[in-house]
Amino acid sequence: MTKGNGEDPKPGSRMERIQQGVRKRTLLAKKKVQSITKDDVKSYLMRNAFVLFTVVAVILGVILGFSLRSYKMSYREVKYFSFPGELLMRMLQMLVLPLIVSSLVTGIAALDSKASGKMGVRAVVYYMSTTIIAVLIGIIIVVIIHPGKGTKENMHREGKIVQVTAADAFLDLIRYAPLGILFLIAGKIVEMEDMGVIGGQLAMYTVTVIIGLLIHAVIVLPLLYFMITRKNPWIFIGGLIQALVTALGTSSSSATLPVTFKCLEEINGVDKRVTRFVLPVGATINMDGTALYEALAAIFIAQVNNFDLNFGQIITISITATAASIGAAGIPQAGLVTMVIVLTSVGLPTDDITLIIAVDWFLDRLRTTTNVLGDSIGAGIVEHLSRHELKNRDAEMGNSVIEENEMKKPYQLISQENENEKPIDSETKM
Ligand code: ASP
Repeated sequence: MTKGNGEDPKPGSRMERIQQGVRKRTLLAKKKVQSITKDDVKSYLMRNAFVLFTVVAVILGVILGFSLRSYKMSYREVKYFSFPGELLMRMLQMLVLPLIVSSLVTGIAALDSKASGKMGVRAVVYYMSTTIIAVLIGIIIVVIIHPGKGTKENMHREGKIVQVTAADAFLDLIRYAPLGILFLIAGKIVEMEDMGVIGGQLAMYTVTVIIGLLIHAVIVLPLLYFMITRKNPWIFIGGLIQALVTALGTSSSSATLPVTFKCLEEINGVDKRVTRFVLPVGATINMDGTALYEALAAIFIAQVNNFDLNFGQIITISITATAASIGAAGIPQAGLVTMVIVLTSVGLPTDDITLIIAVDWFLDRLRTTTNVLGDSIGAGIVEHLSRHELKNRDAEMGNSVIEENEMKKPYQLISQENENEKPIDSETKM
């Protein structure tokens, strides 16, 4: 370092001592920054360990599934292999019914009738508009890409019936236990039909569905969230990763519901009065991904049959696809079943559902993830729109965010006395 005039300070001079002090402080500050960064990373990893573990499980599941495919396991062996995954699925499903009933009861009880009415209207308006947008995206994208060019004659059809054995009954006995997404995914990949059967049309159909779902999930929903709440949608979506990965693993928005609740309430801090009221209904009737897929798949089947659809028939498909998505249960491949409604409404052959079964297990995962994202963003938007009613209700009840405030007060008092005191576990407030 030099003096203002460009000369080095004399050794031992005041200037040199000042410069040494500055250098020391800079070094210390640098060290501090480095250690904060390390700590930050560590605590970030600790906080998100479960999410990371879930994501790693998906990746491992894909790798394991593909590496085991060369062993050509029998159908039964595949069933045994994917059993741990099935356990997880059953466990989540077991939670759903009590969760829906109790959360709706507590959600509605925490609101007065006026507030719950308004919130309900907002939720329904959101559900209807996003479902209609999704259907329109599906229709536009399948008409533009036209994956069903050519005939269906050389397309692969799929479907099989397998006998039940005593071993199945035994496995049934221990289906209450917990286990993992890894086996759900790996099992499905091992079981998957040979990729060779996925011909050009089916591959194009798969790509078309993926593009449609991506437009809805990555552009439309985040944009809607931003336009209404003026908050960063990606931070909100970041808090949902665990729910989204669970949806991807289980193909069931109902089975994902416990995890969706956890992400929205504990990570994104959405008011429990909103989640409990809005989420159970959303998981049952709001399925953007399914609506998009039903409209798109029906038009694809029309295309492979060289069946020209007129404008009226396209409108019929939009309406029935919306209805079919509302009617579909939040369970794996429910959309494939309710698609019969859409096909019969415009006189398309229902048998042709077998043309798309080969890829449906995969597309089902993607549309379920979109469904869960739609429900969660809906909860965020409804909370924002209902903030005044929620505040008024808080004021009316004095300390109405009972769960929140009652736990914070003792903590604040304790922490004033003792800085090192640990916060009381938020779970104990339940
Ligand atoms: N599996 C989807 C869900 O649970 C429904 C569907 O088949 O589209 O959300």
